[in-house]
Amino acid sequence: MTVISIAIVGFGKIAREQHVPAIAANDAFELVAVASPHSRPDRLLHYHDICSMLPALPQLSAVALCTTPQVRYQTARYALEQGRHVLLEKPPGVTVSEVLELARLATHRGVALFAAWHSRYARAVEPARAWLAARTIRSLDVSWKEDVRVHHPGQAWIWMAGGLGVFDPAINALSILTRIIPGGVIVKDAELSFPANCQTPIAARVELATIDGAPVRMALDLLQTGAPSWDIDVDTDAGRLSLRLGGSAMQVDNRPVPMPASQEYPALYAHFAQLVRDRSVDADVAPLQLVADAFLCGRRVQVEPFVE
Ligand code: NAP
Repeated sequence: MTVISIAIVGFGKIAREQHVPAIAANDAFELVAVASPHSRPDRLLHYHDICSMLPALPQLSAVALCTTPQVRYQTARYALEQGRHVLLEKPPGVTVSEVLELARLATHRGVALFAAWHSRYARAVEPARAWLAARTIRSLDVSWKEDVRVHHPGQAWIWMAGGLGVFDPAINALSILTRIIPGGVIVKDAELSFPANCQTPIAARVELATIDGAPVRMALDLLQTGAPSWDIDVDTDAGRLSLRLGGSAMQVDNRPVPMPASQEYPALYAHFAQLVRDRSVDADVAPLQLVADAFLCGRRVQVEPFVE
């Protein structure tokens, strides 16, 4: 089996913490280079940007795009036009139409495209999906709250248009919901709290519904101090399912369900390797569509300026 020669574009927090070790642990890949304007890796080729890297490395077959979301589309489009397989960190674009165009282009060029919703690979997500498939959902509550100063220190891009604000972490919850709820969900209402000095919301309440009409309530906040809350609670006709720690732990009626060891990014790269072999596209826009819908229908409330 040919080893997939891969480079990382955007060498920030997530690239260092998750992508580098996951690639190193997978024999299907060889990490050969990084393109990032300022951040330099140890012991790897470094380029300022993707436009200087791809012509210099004609043998490079894939790129993992871990940049800020605002440059995702132009970077991915260039890579696909150069015939390279592309993994997109979440969110896969700033707009839904960007991602749909990337999927069309990848299909046209016959290369792999993977919109990698990493939270879907959290270990309790598939067991939760199987558990819910046999039950009727009555209501669902999501609490996705964290301290932005701890989890995104100095990341000014979150507050700029296209940076998603509180939806940067909350889109992970939506990626789980759209995987585990049969038939998906519909956005009904939202209240978005924008700091006076930011282009994106710092907190939100979103009301959704399953296609059968069961209420789905989301409480989102980037100013929670102490431990984060990445929780989903589902009341059904046959008990309560709870996902904790971003989908890493599961309880049924408050009793823990044993899970295998966590394999989130390794599982994500195993799937990308298969997409590359098949030259196929996996680019679900559903979580991003729901964020767009919340922005479309949401009432805007101005709150205190954000100070890092
Ligand atoms: P980050 O630490 O701010 O890193 C972003 C990186 O993008 C920076 O290192 C920057 O490079 C690079 N960059 C910006 N413009 C670029 C361009 N034109 N070409 C190449 N590189 C460019 O942010 P992050 O936390 O890693 O998040 C990055 C993405 O991953 C976001 O979409 C985020 O939602 C997602 N994500 C983050 C986490 C997390 O826990 N942090 C988890 C999962 C997914 P320089 O440093 O060289 O300037």
